[in-house]
Amino acid sequence: MSGVELRLYTHPACLAHDTGEGHPERPARLAAVLDALAARFPDLIPHQAPRAERDALLRVHAPGLLASVLETQPDADLHWLDADTALSAGSAEAALRAAGAAVAATDWVLGGERRRAFCAVRPPGHHAEPATAMGFCLFDNIAVAAAHAFAAHELERIAIADFDVHHGNGTQAIFEREPRLLFVDSHQMPLYPGSGAAAETGVGNIANAPYPPLSNGADVRALWRDALLPRLDTFAPQLLLVSAGFDAHRDDPLAQGLLDAEDFAWITGELVEIAERHARGRIVSTLEGGYDLAALAASAVAHVGALRG
Ligand SMILES: [Zn+2]
Repeated sequence: MSGVELRLYTHPACLAHDTGEGHPERPARLAAVLDALAARFPDLIPHQAPRAERDALLRVHAPGLLASVLETQPDADLHWLDADTALSAGSAEAALRAAGAAVAATDWVLGGERRRAFCAVRPPGHHAEPATAMGFCLFDNIAVAAAHAFAAHELERIAIADFDVHHGNGTQAIFEREPRLLFVDSHQMPLYPGSGAAAETGVGNIANAPYPPLSNGADVRALWRDALLPRLDTFAPQLLLVSAGFDAHRDDPLAQGLLDAEDFAWITGELVEIAERHARGRIVSTLEGGYDLAALAASAVAHVGALRG
């Protein structure tokens, strides 16, 4: 594919968000992704993410959540926001850079044609609700980017596609009354966080495609081909955003999906075609889950390769 520009956004601060001994959402995840991308795509220069501005965060999150993430000052001990979600001394900066990566990537992608960006960041975002950090997530990075795109670029239709194995409850909660945004999400059910039934449709702008444990690549591809991709095509987004979680991989310890890296590449390739048809080829993808280091690295490489086309 000619004329495609691909950028990688990340920041070293995202490695300094410490979640404690034995936590699956650990700095080594991001290091594995960055190392694998550097080995496979040596010309892909990392762009340093700026901090998200307070106003950008406040478009989707309550002031109280900003205060608890940004003003808590953990010292040697972690500060736990819920049973899974910790703050360390480096967490506020990591959260600002993770959301800021998605915003900066969106600004760059919308400044041209056939631009794509992958944000290799942590903490992940799609479980963070308007007023509540949860499920390893502090701010909903992709939602911050979408709200920024509406406000700063005057778009009329934005879609978010989420193929993380867990339901993106935060993204859904933020946009379930926003008809300018279509959210499509495939995920295992039952599984954390428990939401994401097909009956949850927002104002007609939410499409959930749950699948049972032990679903394989063919099963999940069929959900996208038959249910979610047609919705995206009909909606005709001017910008396509992606919550790219790779924890439906067969080696992932947190769920029971049976996908392989090639399945993530296939979904990504289909999303690229949607973007080419409707969004002048413009896609911003951010890293969500993926907890087996080798599977995560291989899947992220497959995803980025498909983004490049
Ligand atoms: Zn996940």
